[in-house]
Amino acid sequence: MKLPPFEYICPASIAEAVALLAAHDGEAKPLAGGQSLVPMLAFRVAAPSLLVDLRKVSELRQIRIADDGVALGAMVRWRDILEDARLLQAHPLLVAAVGHVAHYQIRNRGTVGGSLAHADPAAELPGIAVTCAAKIVVVGQAGARVLAAEDFFRGPLTTALTPDEIITEIRFPAWPARRRFGFVEFARRRGDFALAAAALFYDQDDDGKAVGSHVGAIGVADRPLRLTAVEQVLNGNIVAAATIAKAEATASAAVDPPDDIHATGRYRKTLIGVMVERALRRAAAG
Ligand SMILES: Cc1cc2nc3c(=O)[nH]c(=O)nc-3n(C[C@H](O)[C@H](O)[C@H](O)COP(=O)(O)OP(=O)(O)OC[C@H]3O[C@@H](n4cnc5c(N)ncnc54)[C@H](O)[C@@H]3O)c2cc1C
Repeated sequence: MKLPPFEYICPASIAEAVALLAAHDGEAKPLAGGQSLVPMLAFRVAAPSLLVDLRKVSELRQIRIADDGVALGAMVRWRDILEDARLLQAHPLLVAAVGHVAHYQIRNRGTVGGSLAHADPAAELPGIAVTCAAKIVVVGQAGARVLAAEDFFRGPLTTALTPDEIITEIRFPAWPARRRFGFVEFARRRGDFALAAAALFYDQDDDGKAVGSHVGAIGVADRPLRLTAVEQVLNGNIVAAATIAKAEATASAAVDPPDDIHATGRYRKTLIGVMVERALRRAAAG
């Protein structure tokens, strides 16, 4: 299908991009890799009068790794993440999740900012952002805001962004050595969006009991979820068979997914329990 007509501009700075968005009063949209926006134009789901291409804004392409965590610029692509060997140490859960995103060609163009702004409830990065309590930095005419990932996602394809704002980066808290983690996803074919996925991590006290657990669920609600009831099951316990079985049942009970064309809600409810169970087995195995 042909795209609707639009103007196109390719600024070189964040300030310029934001000024262009503000001047067009909701009629302009940022363009990252075009992996979701271009199909949306083709299907007339979106019809902006102006596309503000962010590809020349070099400050959005940085991957920063420091003692306080990892920051990914909005124009960092999936491929950049998978090729940066430092991230295997600095944030192995992120790398494990991004390994499930789409296919080779899409990973060459799809970006961190595009995925967060698109807010697909079955996408991996929004799920990892919520699981890890990441912060999302956005910049608009009024200045910068730092939002907790849990407050950023408001529903399917809906976020807290205002029309003049762009995402500049996402910040993940530091990842201690020896942290246990698991990411398990079920999709019909490799590279498809998840039918359901579980992302989780925990640290261990001197007795080997789980502390500070974070458990996230992808694809089972209108946005990614933190499963705090499952975290309570894990904290203070050794992650072994009995705890894992309880966590599985608790995860299933905690969600109420709707039926859709891909699966029934009942199926997804069972599936998320299985994903949590498998992710915990992986984490426990180290
Ligand atoms: C066949 C196929 C399979 C896929 N499978 C998966 C999958 O398994 N898992 C997954 O997570 N994703 C998947 N994707 C999505 C893909 O990985 C991209 O991340 C996603 O489409 C976003 O694309 P993009 O970065 O090119 O952003 P674009 O398509 O350019 O933009 C997407 C939206 O974000 C807005 N936007 C872009 N950048 C910014 C910014 N910095 N600030 C504010 N708004 C911004 C745009 O205006 C637009 O509304 C798939 C895509 C395709 C086509």
